[in-house]
Amino acid sequence: MPKINPEIIKLDEENIFSKVIQKVNEYKKKHPTDDIVSLGVGDVTRPIVEPVVLAMHRAVDDLSKEETFKGYNGDGYDFLKEKIIENEYHDYGFVNEEIHISNGTKTDCTSILELFPMSAKIGVTNAMYPVYRDGARCLGRKVYFLDAKEENNFIPDIPKEKYDLIYICSPSNPVGNAYTYQELKKWIDYAINNQAVILYDNVYSAFISSEDVPKSIYEIDEAKQVAIEMNSYSKVASFTGVRCSYYVIPKEIYPDVNRLWRKRISNRFNGTDYIAQRGAEAVYLPESQKLIKENIAYYKENIKMLKDFFTSYGFKIYGGIDSPYIWVKNKENMESWDLFNLYLNKLNIVIIPGIIFGKRGEKYFRVSGFATRDNINKAIGRMKKYYGKEK
Ligand code: PLP
Repeated sequence: MPKINPEIIKLDEENIFSKVIQKVNEYKKKHPTDDIVSLGVGDVTRPIVEPVVLAMHRAVDDLSKEETFKGYNGDGYDFLKEKIIENEYHDYGFVNEEIHISNGTKTDCTSILELFPMSAKIGVTNAMYPVYRDGARCLGRKVYFLDAKEENNFIPDIPKEKYDLIYICSPSNPVGNAYTYQELKKWIDYAINNQAVILYDNVYSAFISSEDVPKSIYEIDEAKQVAIEMNSYSKVASFTGVRCSYYVIPKEIYPDVNRLWRKRISNRFNGTDYIAQRGAEAVYLPESQKLIKENIAYYKENIKMLKDFFTSYGFKIYGGIDSPYIWVKNKENMESWDLFNLYLNKLNIVIIPGIIFGKRGEKYFRVSGFATRDNINKAIGRMKKYYGKEK
C-alpha cells in the first residue's frame, strides 16, 4: 500500500472548514424542512455583472474560430496584465513580467512557497485564513504563529526573532480589521531588516473605505523590495466559480525572485482559462465598475446591519468597516463548536466557529455579509427573538 502524506491525514482530524459543511449537511438530513440561513461562508451571492458576462460570451466565441482560438498561456495574457497595471498599480511602475495571472489566491498563497527553501521560517497570524497554515503543512512546511489578539488589536507585535516569510491578510479574514499605513510600514521595515518576504493577501481590498488603510501594500515606500501581493476577482467581481486571480512579484525582491518564479511557472503551470481572463479584463470597464461598486455597497450594508445588531445586543465585535466580515466575541464564553451547534439547532443560522481560524479564535465566531439581504433580515429577526428572550 502506498504511504500517505501524514499531514493530510492529520488535517482530517482537525478543525477545518469542511467540518462546518459536514455538520450542516447532517443537520439538513435530519431536519429537511428547516430553513437554514448561512452567515458562514465567504462565498458571494451577487451574480456576475452583465458587461463581464458578455465579455465571457465573446471569449467563448473566440475559441470556436481558428483565427481567434487560444490555447496554453503560461502566466497570463498581456491584455489583462496591462489592465491590472493601469487600474490597480498605476503609480508603481510595474511591467507585465511582474504580474502573474492565476486561477485563485487559495492556490497562489501556498504555491508561492515553492520559491523558498524547506528551512524557511514561516510566520502566520493567529487567528488566520486557515489555508496559510494547512496549505503550508500539506507541502511539508512548518508554520509559526504570531498572536493576533484583542490586546494588540488583532495585529501581531513585530517579532523579535527572524522569520523568512510572513503572511499578512489585510483586510483580514477572519477578523475583519485592516492594517493602516503606519502598521504596514513597521512590517516592511521588519522585512527589510530581516531579509524577509511579506506574502500580502489583499483579496478584500475592494471593501476598504478607511482613509488610513492602503489599497495596496505598494503604497508604502520600499514595499517593492520585500512584498508579494496577491489579489483575486473572486470577491470583487463574483468570480468564486469562474476563477481568476493575480499576484505581483516585483523585480526588486532580492535575489532575482521574479525571474526564478517565471522559471517555476514554466514547469508547473499552463495558464488560467482564457474566458476567465477576458471576463477579468471587462471588470475594468466603467459600466462594470459602476455595477460592481453597487454590489460591494450591498455587502457593506449587510455587514453594517449585522454589526448594528450585535452591538446593540451587547456583543463585543471587531472588523466590518473595511471588510465583509465581523469577528464576534462569544458572550456566553462557550467553546466555539458549542456555539456553532447552538446557532444551528436553535436558530437555524450557520456561523463559523472561531477555532477554525486557529487557537486564538476559540472564544469568537465569524459572520459574513456575503449573504442575500433577505437572509440577513431573517437571521437578524431570529437572533433578536432569541436574545430578546434571554435578556
Ligand atoms: N484569501 C483569503 C483571505 C480568502 O478569504 C479567500 C477566500 O475566501 C481566498 C484567499 C481565496 O480566494 P480565491 O477565490 O481567489 O481562491
